[in-house]
Amino acid sequence: MTQVTEQQILKALKQVSDADRGQDIVSLNMVSGLRIKDGHVAFTIQVDPERGASMEPLRKEAEKTIHALSGVISASVVLTAERPAPGGEPGAEEMTEPADEIEAPVLPDVKSIVAIASGKGGVGKSTTAVNLALALAAAGHKTGLLDADVYGPSIPRMLGISGKPVPTEEGALEPMENHGVKCMSMGFLVEDEAPLIWRGPMAQSALQHLLRDVNWGELDVLVVDMPPGTGDIQLTLVQQTPLTGAIIVSTPQDIALSDARKGMNMFRKVDVPVFGIVENMSYFRCPHCGERSEIFSHGGARQEAARTGMDFLGEIPLDMDIRETSDGGHPIVVSKPDSDHAKAYRAIAAKTWEKIGLALQERQAEAPPNETQ
Ligand code: ADP
Repeated sequence: MTQVTEQQILKALKQVSDADRGQDIVSLNMVSGLRIKDGHVAFTIQVDPERGASMEPLRKEAEKTIHALSGVISASVVLTAERPAPGGEPGAEEMTEPADEIEAPVLPDVKSIVAIASGKGGVGKSTTAVNLALALAAAGHKTGLLDADVYGPSIPRMLGISGKPVPTEEGALEPMENHGVKCMSMGFLVEDEAPLIWRGPMAQSALQHLLRDVNWGELDVLVVDMPPGTGDIQLTLVQQTPLTGAIIVSTPQDIALSDARKGMNMFRKVDVPVFGIVENMSYFRCPHCGERSEIFSHGGARQEAARTGMDFLGEIPLDMDIRETSDGGHPIVVSKPDSDHAKAYRAIAAKTWEKIGLALQERQAEAPPNETQ
């Protein structure tokens, strides 16, 4: 199949006009962040925040127009209401701004943002993120949970949320909410069928959208469930998000820990403090005889933390209740708050809250006197 080119796409988009402004979206400089990879096309359309909701038909039209071109397998278009970078066009470059430059304007009412990351998939990162968010909420902190795991957005299911958010008249999205935690997910923006290779580039514009165009309101903490791994996509997402700190989730065996170390290095490279490591699936206690088995060995994360100077935040066993409750939409912290597992998550949340306070204090001490953040 012939490859579609940027010129062909822009030419086609010249047929899509913004009726209110009487010109096509290319001439109006509304198209940005165009990415083409193996027949998969993605870009964003910049709109005024006030007009957001009424722009959905335009977005659909643009998507349909590109999808109809020969050589296009998929087309994903996201509306954004970004503010232009000072002195320049908003665009792809803006997406890789260092975190500290975008911090102030993005989420002024969100006091802290904590990334939950893992060196690889399947270690229980989302399960940890969801239970940690619920434990923070149970401690009385206003909490949001942003599911940025574009490869397997499972947070809505774990929080028992179905349906999709509806844009408000102003073009912003209202977060979904359950168990007292506000939630948004990449899964709402990126179609399930989108091929894996395509999700990475999509993730970047989708994350901007979820940070900037969602009515998060006032939050003490926004927990972000990152995509697993430490590649370019993860690094870009880390750079795009004004993170207060990061938590690494790992299983105890060596192979997982070496990936966890890469995660730690990724955050340190961009000066995001690593709050510590959580050992998940740490051990298994037989529900029949009570015997404890260390299926993936045990204590590796604690040793790794000591070796690398990370703090050890806690260990969570491999347990049927943890799986059933989180996969069923009622995570253990809310469905069995008196269980030992819920207590373990609450202890991790308490340590996390303490670390958030320290990181914010440290940042304030470093900030020039005229900065309020
Ligand atoms: P990741 O986000 O790292 O890909 P998930 O959190 O989606 O991993 O977990 C993968 C699977 O393992 C899910 O079915 C989840 O319920 C299960 N799981 C995670 N942690 C535990 C645990 N401590 N005990 C039992 N099952 C778990």
